[in-house]
Amino acid sequence: MKIGVNEVKEIIINIAKVIEKNKEFLTELDANIGDADHGINMSKGFKAVVKKLSETNTGSISEILKMTGMTLISNVGGASGPLYGTAFMKASTAIDKEFIDIYDFIDILKAALEGIKFRGKSKVGEKTMIDTMEPALNALIKSKDDGLSDKEALENMKDEALKGVEYTKTIIATKGRAAYLGERSIGHQDPGAASSYLMLNEIYKYFTNNNE
Ligand code: ADP
Ligand code: MG
Repeated sequence: MKIGVNEVKEIIINIAKVIEKNKEFLTELDANIGDADHGINMSKGFKAVVKKLSETNTGSISEILKMTGMTLISNVGGASGPLYGTAFMKASTAIDKEFIDIYDFIDILKAALEGIKFRGKSKVGEKTMIDTMEPALNALIKSKDDGLSDKEALENMKDEALKGVEYTKTIIATKGRAAYLGERSIGHQDPGAASSYLMLNEIYKYFTNNNE
């Protein structure tokens, strides 16, 4: 697999669509353990991103990622805006190429996750988006180390991402608004973990539908 700027734009647009489709669902999840705005925040942010993308004709993948990050930061009030925004901004600094392959994508995801951890002062096991992203990234790296195909590696990535979402149901939130609930957060999946899964699954779907 090797993709250029148009494919990256298409993936971001697909992400915006799946976020829109799941707006109510994400908001419901946040109603359980937060303030019922995660779907609203994400929808608002990605709508602004799609608008911004339609207004640009840059040929640089890095520029697209940076623009996405800046737009999320400046359009979303909640915690998720700055966190996902930082993820895309950091991702933009990880590559400087016209075409990217799966190893570049690993670097992108690594930088994105590091950005979230730094900005959120958070780590795995705290019932956040990190519980989806970190196992997903690790599965991707391991799959390629084991010599699996790109498709298999991306499939393992999204499977581990989903397991991460399930895992968030079993643990107490110690970061973000859900932390106020303490033990009462158990049994509910984290909204940010769910939105991260939707994004990673969309990336997986792009390659199973379009490549080879
Ligand atoms: P807010 O919490 O401001 O209402 P959102 O509802 O949009 O913002 O996003 C909440 C999500 O943000 C949580 O479900 C969690 O996944 C994520 N989150 C919150 N705080 C942190 C943090 N410090 N580190 C990582 N992720 C976090
Ligand atoms: Mg919220």
